[in-house]
Amino acid sequence: MVGATESYDLIIIGAGPAGATAAIYGARYGLKVAFFESIDPVSQLTLTPAIENFPGYEGNGFELIQRIRDQAEKFGATHKFENVDSIEKKGDIFEVKSDSGVYSAKAIIIASGGKHRELGIPGEKEFVGKGVSYCATCDGNFFRGKKVVVIGGGNTAVEEAIYLKEIGCDVSLVHRRDELRADKAYQEGLFKRNIPVIWNSIPVRIEGNEVVERIVLYNKVEEREFAVEVSAVFVAVGINPATQIVEKLGVERDSMGYIKVNRRQETNIPGVFAAGDCCDNPLKQAVTAAGDGAVAANSAFEYIKMKFQQ
Ligand code: NAP
Repeated sequence: MVGATESYDLIIIGAGPAGATAAIYGARYGLKVAFFESIDPVSQLTLTPAIENFPGYEGNGFELIQRIRDQAEKFGATHKFENVDSIEKKGDIFEVKSDSGVYSAKAIIIASGGKHRELGIPGEKEFVGKGVSYCATCDGNFFRGKKVVVIGGGNTAVEEAIYLKEIGCDVSLVHRRDELRADKAYQEGLFKRNIPVIWNSIPVRIEGNEVVERIVLYNKVEEREFAVEVSAVFVAVGINPATQIVEKLGVERDSMGYIKVNRRQETNIPGVFAAGDCCDNPLKQAVTAAGDGAVAANSAFEYIKMKFQQ
């Protein structure tokens, strides 16, 4: 194909549990596979300090994902550290352009995951890297022995609060309601460690001079603002799917931006499949992402066989 520097049967956008598992399956089907990892967004799993619900594995997310990637490479899949800029369909072939090359593929799996949400409050952007963080595993060490808050009530927020407590931070959780969204097992971990929760409180602004010094919250029940003196604010208020890349391809997404897939992980565009956190699936877990990846690779294999090998 004109302009293409390397041709593949299957290109996978993403190298998290969904993408890397799809790469294992694709390579084992005998397909020529490349899976792309970008730094934006990085796989959420890589940032997870402790995994307790991936069958047969307990440990940190970084090691788990590294093992899955190594396994994919062992079976011949090519792992590329490149940001994918665009995907175009030219006849039956897809053209993938990255910051380093142009590639062709017979089928595509989108496993691009999601990017952390921001609070969108004054002070947040200004203090990124100066006390505002979206990753406790990455930045927690800087705040050992210091007072910090985690914002959010989901699994990620609770997991981060537990991690920060374990490494010696004086951590509180701030949640906008009076009950947590996190799974019971996570909640038990939080309460067992006596991590205080500041309930019914919405972040208003983050203040400081050179670095973060306090967060101002609004208590919905008492209808009043108050400040909490802290050295760091860890924001863990969910993710937005990283699916902008499929817009030009005409891949259907729901109102939140998640890619619509059926049980075969097929999108509305023939030859384009999707897996993991970027899809409109009900459960966002490493194990379900890996399962999606396996199904997507199987569907891509069947599609390639039917379309190109008759
Ligand atoms: P999430 O489940 O969407 O939770 C986001 C939390 O942030 C919610 O508690 C939400 O409050 C709060 N929030 C959202 N916007 C806010 C704002 N502007 N200000 C204050 N609070 C705000 O996100 P997540 O915890 O990152 O998890 C994402 C997905 O990954 C979930 O499906 C989760 O189960 C999964 N996950 C699984 C594991 C695991 O099982 N090992 C670990 C981490 C994540 P409300 O509750 O009021 O909506």
